[in-house]
Amino acid sequence: MSNVNIDWANLGFGYIKTPYRYSAKFVNGEWQEGQIIEDDKIVLSECAGVFQYAQTCFEGLKAYYTEDGRIVCFRPDLNAKRMHDSCERLVMPTFPEDKFLEAVKMVVEANKDYVPPYGSGASLYIRPYMMGTNPVIGVKPADEYEFRIFVTPVGPYFKGGAKPITIKVSDFDRAAPHGTGHIKAGLNYAMSLYPITVAHEEGFSENMYLDPQTRTKVEETGGANFLFITKDGKFVTPKSDSILPSITRRSLMVVAEKYLGMTVENREVYFDELKDFAECGLCGTAAVISPVGKIYDHGEEICFPAGMEEMGPYTKKLYDTLTGIQMGRIDPPEGWVFTVCEAE
Ligand SMILES: *Cc1c(COP(=O)(O)O)cnc(C)c1O
Repeated sequence: MSNVNIDWANLGFGYIKTPYRYSAKFVNGEWQEGQIIEDDKIVLSECAGVFQYAQTCFEGLKAYYTEDGRIVCFRPDLNAKRMHDSCERLVMPTFPEDKFLEAVKMVVEANKDYVPPYGSGASLYIRPYMMGTNPVIGVKPADEYEFRIFVTPVGPYFKGGAKPITIKVSDFDRAAPHGTGHIKAGLNYAMSLYPITVAHEEGFSENMYLDPQTRTKVEETGGANFLFITKDGKFVTPKSDSILPSITRRSLMVVAEKYLGMTVENREVYFDELKDFAECGLCGTAAVISPVGKIYDHGEEICFPAGMEEMGPYTKKLYDTLTGIQMGRIDPPEGWVFTVCEAE
């Protein structure tokens, strides 16, 4: 158990510097052996590919203590695979998926004291990322890259229970320039900063983006996928090539079907259907599921029957089952839980 002086119960969702990070460099067309380092600073040329043409992408996952004292990560192989896809789209060298898992293990083990205790509601957030590091002024991919992972302990996304949020239908289209909506990269987040700032100023927690072509179909928010529950208890989640394939959403589809016996529909979801759903939620690694109580659409409101006081019953069951699997209280499907450290 931990030796560091952190008030786990009052941790927020912010950055806390820990002693160690992982770094591997790509030079002369190959990845060099990665290592654990102490320096949190990165010193690069002013003309590095990352600064000029935004050649960078990232991942996000968590490590936590299970009930029986192991430190585990949830489906990190899917983060490795997704980062591979992001790198290909940004013409960056892919980082071998087995090395990715090894690196996650190394960096979590090195920072073991920063893994919050079981039951604290906090976890260790893991941030792998890659960037083009050599000078590039003509528009082309960099030749040299660095893959790094830092970790930071984070508190529960919601303090004092997950109260449903109100979101708005965005006046903007989701980034996705040249169809990059399915990759996890800062470029998409940069494009969502202005719309989210506007939404916050207007008192909304998030933006719902519709498909840019017809603005009739639901895509996702700036950083989370949607899930909906029908009045007869079906699980519905939007299918689109331009949304990020959320690992939480893909896992919840399995939980809904295999653990809760629900019918699962992964299909195009029309905005006009929303008024008929019973529950709505946003899903992602950070919050698992954030319930949505209300959607504001240019003067009109869609209010879900589950209300604004607490998570709806199906959302709650999905949340409890997924977090139960992650924390080792419920038997996981084969390969879902990756052990970083055995119990001491
Ligand atoms: C990371 C992310 C999500 C959530 O994905 P998870 O794998 O569940 O954490 C959803 N949408 C976007 C745009 C993201 O970047």
